[in-house]
Amino acid sequence: MLSRRRFLQKCLLATVAMGIGGSPFSRSRARAATGTDIPVLLYHRVGDTQGHMTVSPKRFATDLANLKDMGFSTISLDLFRRYLADPETPLPENPLMISFDDGYLDNFLNAYPLLREYGMTAAFYIITGMVGEADRLTPAHIREIAANGMSIGSHTVSHRELGEMDTEEAASEMSLSRLYLEGLLQRSVNFIAYPKGSYNEFTAKIANEAAYNGGFSVEYGTCAHTSNPYALRRIPIFSFDREIKQTMIKRGWG
Ligand SMILES: [Zn+2]
Repeated sequence: MLSRRRFLQKCLLATVAMGIGGSPFSRSRARAATGTDIPVLLYHRVGDTQGHMTVSPKRFATDLANLKDMGFSTISLDLFRRYLADPETPLPENPLMISFDDGYLDNFLNAYPLLREYGMTAAFYIITGMVGEADRLTPAHIREIAANGMSIGSHTVSHRELGEMDTEEAASEMSLSRLYLEGLLQRSVNFIAYPKGSYNEFTAKIANEAAYNGGFSVEYGTCAHTSNPYALRRIPIFSFDREIKQTMIKRGWG
């Protein structure tokens, strides 16, 4: 299994080295010339807390209903990983990923039941140093959602900005969080979401060496198999946003 993973990493590294999507630091194309563009939505909290990172459960349900009406099918991180490695990997007609950063408890209490109700899946990026703290997911929550079709990724140990760290510290944040989650779930964890979207010219190499197949930023846009796998784009959704389709268009989809 490890050798297969190493092989896939080599493929992805080769993609970077070939200059498809440019250097890890350059901006990849928002739209691919060919192939499928996959929007990756980014939420943080679903509940009644204040702040622009929170959407209400009612609003989240409306977003899911509208996404369904638009014909989207959510895909797992594992399918996305296989698609990045091999663009011939079959995908549903209108693939979409939904992601949650920071591992708040309301993700389990409010978002997860709605995702299940709508038959959709999402990826949850966990700050491993905060697991089990007040208002955060516990190990049992993470195991339960992972056992029911949700994808799990790393959001580092401490949620500090990777782009501001020295190489050794960034490597430690990436490796320790992955090892924690893999120990908890007994399955491989292949993606990281960079806290606050922060990365630098060394991040791709460090993430690759820490056995990640890709890393998500918060730069606006969609993902394609030609994207730089270590500077993947997302579409953040905020409390002040209105209709989901218009928000997606505003932030780089379509
Ligand atoms: Zn975060």
